[in-house]
Amino acid sequence: MKVISITPRGFCYGVVDAMEMVKRVATDPKTPRPIYILGQLVHNHFMVERLNQYGVTSLENTASRLDLLDRVNEGTVIFTAHGVSPQVKEKARAKGLNCVDTTCPDVDKTHVLIRKLVSAGYEILYIGRKGHPEPEGAIGEAPDHVHLIQDAEDLDRVQLSQTDKVAVTTQTTLSRWDTEELVERIRQRYPSVEVHTEICQATQLRQEAAVRQSVEADVVFIVGDTHSSNSNRLVDVVRNQAGKKAVFLIDGVADIRPEMLDGATVAAVTAGSSTPSDITREVIRFLQSYEPTASSNPSV
Ligand code: SF4
Repeated sequence: MKVISITPRGFCYGVVDAMEMVKRVATDPKTPRPIYILGQLVHNHFMVERLNQYGVTSLENTASRLDLLDRVNEGTVIFTAHGVSPQVKEKARAKGLNCVDTTCPDVDKTHVLIRKLVSAGYEILYIGRKGHPEPEGAIGEAPDHVHLIQDAEDLDRVQLSQTDKVAVTTQTTLSRWDTEELVERIRQRYPSVEVHTEICQATQLRQEAAVRQSVEADVVFIVGDTHSSNSNRLVDVVRNQAGKKAVFLIDGVADIRPEMLDGATVAAVTAGSSTPSDITREVIRFLQSYEPTASSNPSV
């Protein structure tokens, strides 16, 4: 089968830096043990398993970062690239934990922006995904003045204490196209709104490449974890902007079923910024050797 391997794809610099930092900390004998990561360093279970091999425990994303800290009473706590709120940092310090912060500089930039806007008297509409750790950290900078907006219904419900100074900012891993639609609605409601779109360059480049380079494909595979925001947004943009119907988010080669390839002669492959490249390469190799008439199942 002909395979278009979309580039750029996979790990972004924020994830690479965070990984390096964790490896350094985990292999330093002076680091206080045990070592915990508050949540998953990146939303990919292969990465979580690999980090376990360094003796680092990833606490599941089943609760807020603040609540997860209740499970850490000694040693080292690592904050993920998604960033954490000031309340989390304060609580960790009060517990006497050794803190390691791997927050991506692009996320940090949004925190700085929020602090600046709030101290200048702005109410902020933060466009992001509910339940994702990045909005939790950013909104924690000023919970009374930053309002999470995921969709038009949230916008209809929001009550601002004043409407003279309103600003918009965003999660870094959103779809540019979805965000523009929501920003347009916000402009209609608050015509003088100040807009700061904070979608990071790594996310934008991956989305634009996926839309542009998947044009000729009959089927598109996004390699990524179902919990990964940027992987899910890649699915959205390939469906909505490239108009592709056969788009599948897969964890790895074992998720490819023969019926996904029915009638297809060209496949395109990309990956979320939290997906290890060897997992994606395995998918590409499998598809390259796939005979469209064959009914083999890679998982067997
Ligand atoms: S996706 Fe963007 S914001 Fe998130 S870690 Fe990567 S570079 Fe940083």
